[in-house]
Amino acid sequence: MNSTQAALLSYFPTALESPTATVHLEYDPDALPPKPSEDWTRFVCISDTHAHKFDVPDGDVLLHSGDLTHTGKVVEFKKTMEWLYGLPHKFKIIIAGNHDLTLHEDWYANEYDRWHWTSGKQVCCTPHPIYAVKTSLQDIVPIREMLKGQRAIDAGIVYLQDEEYKFKVKEEGREWSVYGSPWSPEFCDWAFNYKRSEADHIVSKIPKTDILLTHGPPFGIFDRTLDDEDAGCQNLRARLAILAPRIHLFGHIHEGRGAYIHAWDPNNKGKIPLVQSDDEVSQAGMDTEAMAEWKRTVFVNAAAWPAGPRRSRDGVRMPFGGPGFQPVVVDLKD
Ligand SMILES: [Zn+2]
Repeated sequence: MNSTQAALLSYFPTALESPTATVHLEYDPDALPPKPSEDWTRFVCISDTHAHKFDVPDGDVLLHSGDLTHTGKVVEFKKTMEWLYGLPHKFKIIIAGNHDLTLHEDWYANEYDRWHWTSGKQVCCTPHPIYAVKTSLQDIVPIREMLKGQRAIDAGIVYLQDEEYKFKVKEEGREWSVYGSPWSPEFCDWAFNYKRSEADHIVSKIPKTDILLTHGPPFGIFDRTLDDEDAGCQNLRARLAILAPRIHLFGHIHEGRGAYIHAWDPNNKGKIPLVQSDDEVSQAGMDTEAMAEWKRTVFVNAAAWPAGPRRSRDGVRMPFGGPGFQPVVVDLKD
């Protein structure tokens, strides 16, 4: 960020609280409150970084919900992975998104020339047309090495593609489970897209875990596009009532960035409100004493790409990961 931007940027601290989860959506990076106590775990959530780098607060675990790159090129992965290797978190759990074309290997082998061969051809529809980049077929081998090789292992990187992983942050502490799925509903035929009619094939495979990473949002939760379409997956929404993870992190719809702590009514688990705006979050998220023992899911759309009405303040364009689009810090009671 340059000095003019720095002078104009200001932070409006925004946090959500519940007995078992705290969420910091916007904060002064120099004054981020610590975890409530030592028996809590700090998860730092990002998504849709698209080969951009920015400041990320320290925490126990970094979660990234996909779109590591712009079109899955080796040079873009290099930029993202060098950044992630250098971050201090003990575990960095990451997935792909629809832009990480090369990681959807079978699909890329057939489709690559729509993206990486012809110059000037529009390959994606509005609101953000994307043009094929004049570059050669990308080699998956160095990309795999960056995600799963020794350097990645040493840096705590865990790349999940329809897989589960279990880990302990503290030696004597609790074990956490996480599942990662790069898929999202059909959108101009990008990588890891499924037809809505075939959603159940993908979604029914997702197991019960503490943390769920998907690239696409569930229907009705931070999934509204600039065209006023709720683009999330209905099947995923229905499945979440069964899974009830502690965190469900996603991205994909950049303009939908936000967080909401949902308390599951044990007598009516299917009852999830529609939440797209700050107002809807505060209406839906009011905890009562009777709800103290209910299970909770923190829903987070952590897209770091400034989009929608919040992309600028006072006429100043926000940088990636800047105010309104910072990494979302989620503290969970162990
Ligand atoms: Zn994205």
